[in-house]
Amino acid sequence: MKQSHKPLVAANWKMNPGTIVEAKALLTAIKAAAKKTPEVEVVVAVPSIFITELQKVAGSVLRLAAQNVHDQPNGAFTGETSMTMLQTSGVSHVIIGHSERRTMGETDEAVAKKIQVVLKAKCTPIVCIGERERDSQGNFYIHIESQIVSAFAAIPTNRFKDVVIAYEPIWAIGTGKTATSDDVIEMSLYIHKVLTKHYGRNAAGKVRVIYGGSVNVENAATLFATKSIAGFLVGGASLKPVDFATIIAAAK
Ligand code: PEP
Repeated sequence: MKQSHKPLVAANWKMNPGTIVEAKALLTAIKAAAKKTPEVEVVVAVPSIFITELQKVAGSVLRLAAQNVHDQPNGAFTGETSMTMLQTSGVSHVIIGHSERRTMGETDEAVAKKIQVVLKAKCTPIVCIGERERDSQGNFYIHIESQIVSAFAAIPTNRFKDVVIAYEPIWAIGTGKTATSDDVIEMSLYIHKVLTKHYGRNAAGKVRVIYGGSVNVENAATLFATKSIAGFLVGGASLKPVDFATIIAAAK
C-alpha cells in the first residue's frame, strides 16, 4: 500500500464544545501539540458555526474540517451548509457519511453525491465506512464492499489520492471497544483488495485508509505500529488535549 502523504490525525468534535470560548481554548492546545509534531497532518472537524473564528486560531498549523456538507450549491434547504460556504470559511476537509449521520438517514447515494461536491471544491473528503456488527459468517465484508463501491463509483481514479477512507466499525465508536490490531490490518487489506478489484492496483494504492473507533492514549501507538493505516479519526479523545497530543505523537 503506497502512502505518499504525511500520516493524518483527524479530530471529530461532533457537537462539542458548548461555546466558542471553549472551542478556541481547545484548538489552541491542539495547535501547540501539532506544532511539536510537524510530521503529522492534524485536521480538526469542528462545529460549522465555529469555523470562521477557529480559522484564525488554526493558522497554517492546523487544517479545519466540516462534519457534513449539503450536495447542492444553494437553495431551499433549511439548516444545511453548502461547500462554498464551508470553503470560504476556511475548511479543507469534510467528513462524509459518519455513522451518526447515516443513522439519521444519510444514504450511500447521498454520501456519493457529497464526495463529488467536496472533490470539485478541491477539498479532501474523509469518507466513513464501517459495519454495525461482525457476524461469524463474514457478511460484514459484503457491507463494506458495497459502501466502497457506492462511494467510489463516480470518483475518477486520478482523484483517489485526494480521498481518505475512515474505517470506523460502528461497534467501536464511542463504546470503548477498539478493533484489535489484527482487525485493523485485515480490514485495511480488505479495503485495498476491494479497491484493487474494482479500480486497479495503482489507483487503489493512492487511497489513504485511517482508523476510527475508541482510539485512545493506550491503543494509538499499537494500532499505528501495524503500518496498515495512514492515521486516525478520533472522537471522544480529541476533546482532551493531553490525550489527543499523545495520539498525534503516536502517528509519527
Ligand atoms: C468518531 O465519532 O468518529 C469516533 C471515532 O469516535 P470515538 O473516538 O469517540 O469512538
